Amino acid sequence: MATRIPVRTEVAVIGAGPAGLAAALYAGRARLATVVLERGAAGGQASTTHLIENYPGFPEGIAGPDLMQRMEQQARRFGAEFHYAEVHAVATGDGGLVVSSSEGDLHAAAVIVATGTEPVRLGVPGEDRLRGAGVSYCATCDGAFFRDGRVLVIGGGDSAIVEALFLTRFASNVTVVHRREQLRATKVVQEDAFRNPKIDFAWNSVVEEILGARKVEGVILKDTRTGETRRLDADGVFVAVGSRPDTGFVAGLADMDPRGYIVTDDRMMTRTPGLFAAGDVRAKAVRQVVTAVADGAIAAVEAERHISGH
Ligand code: NAP
Repeated sequence: MATRIPVRTEVAVIGAGPAGLAAALYAGRARLATVVLERGAAGGQASTTHLIENYPGFPEGIAGPDLMQRMEQQARRFGAEFHYAEVHAVATGDGGLVVSSSEGDLHAAAVIVATGTEPVRLGVPGEDRLRGAGVSYCATCDGAFFRDGRVLVIGGGDSAIVEALFLTRFASNVTVVHRREQLRATKVVQEDAFRNPKIDFAWNSVVEEILGARKVEGVILKDTRTGETRRLDADGVFVAVGSRPDTGFVAGLADMDPRGYIVTDDRMMTRTPGLFAAGDVRAKAVRQVVTAVADGAIAAVEAERHISGH
């Protein structure tokens, strides 16, 4: 990524996951000066998914990093400029919007917020202390460290079950710890997990504590029905209990739902003209790569309309 951010652009895209990259592609093709600000690597959470099986056009599935690299290349091809920057705030000013970041201020006629979500922590003793020493939030990133080990995956949604399936490539045993006795994950994903001989389930269970002196050695599980606790040994604990947005930086300009997701109209516009939101950060029902890219495309088209005064 280039280092110095420009002072002015037509469209600023914050976040380079699927929504941001699609927005950048569409804005670039509309011949708008487009700057993408990203504080990590381009690709977002989708690039931590080992295999994306439900993005149309790839019947065998496609590796998350692969798909995201292609989206980035496509956005660059149409002129989007990528910069590293941590955004602190967006404000109105100078007839448009001003994005304040670690790399300076960027003035833009339209801003598309596509910052996605962050993993939710369990908030139990041992979790922070052992993060990186057996506690992980990304199986694709850390799974290979647990070859022949015994790992736990906490959660019952798509992320948890997809991660559990991926971890069976390395671990000898994967236990899914879920607080109810029914998974939330998509049926086809559930079926794969139930069929996999390396996966078992600790139903009606929550983690009370993660144990280990210098690395994870196990957890204390509590039965949600009886309140009884028991120890379960493990080498790794993968936490996949959902994610939440970090949207404080647009607090003055956009309405949020009670969980902090940005409320938009169906043009992806917030209550501030020229400020758009797209992808997982937006209040909506379905969070998938395919819906994120759709949001990004709509936001960019509407940003163009906003800029040209239609
Ligand atoms: P999610 O669907 O919100 O699932 C979170 C899971 O964690 C739920 O099973 C929930 O239990 C459990 N949970 C929440 N808080 C907990 C706590 N404090 N302690 C223990 N368990 C807790 O989140 P996600 O799995 O990250 O998925 C997010 C979105 O991305 C979803 O829309 C999902 O469909 C999508 N996604 C899709 C795919 C795919 O299509 N292949 C892959 C990954 C993610 P309850 O069930 O009891 O609420």
